[in-house]
Amino acid sequence: MTDRTFTMIKPDATQNGHTGGILEMINAAGFRIVAMKMTHLSEAKAGEFYAIHKERPFYGELVEFMSRGPITAAILEKENAVEDFRKLIGATNPANAEEGTIRKKYATSIGENAVHGSDSDENAAVEGNFFFSKLEQF
Ligand code: ATP
Ligand code: MG
Repeated sequence: MTDRTFTMIKPDATQNGHTGGILEMINAAGFRIVAMKMTHLSEAKAGEFYAIHKERPFYGELVEFMSRGPITAAILEKENAVEDFRKLIGATNPANAEEGTIRKKYATSIGENAVHGSDSDENAAVEGNFFFSKLEQF
């Protein structure tokens, strides 16, 4: 299952009404949505998802933020999906994000940066399976 990546539209972007705008940018960049749902992560689930960052100083803040409100989770398909999607979302800190990227347009800070994008094929598969059963992946 290469050529797939996983994304979340984070609580800040959801609250600010940017879900539609972000999905439009994703479609315009040539990604096909093969799974999608709106959900609200508990603190426990957000902590599990970002467990890789457990030792980082911003972990508590990240878990609190990601469980603050609804998100949209999706699996996206495209040739070279992981790398191309990281380019489309832009740098973690929106101050460093290039023009034309989702974070440049919609992120407000390094913590509240509008979208998540998987950083490897392996993590894309793990993260997609975290949210979607096989029956929900098309
Ligand atoms: P994501 O994994 O959400 O796509 P990323 O890969 O660009 O983001 P990571 O280093 O994996 O960045 O960090 C995960 C998330 O933790 C960031 O997207 C951001 O929400 C938060 N974060 C990262 N660094 C900081 C920081 N210095 N201060 C506050 N929050 C941070
Ligand atoms: Mg990351």
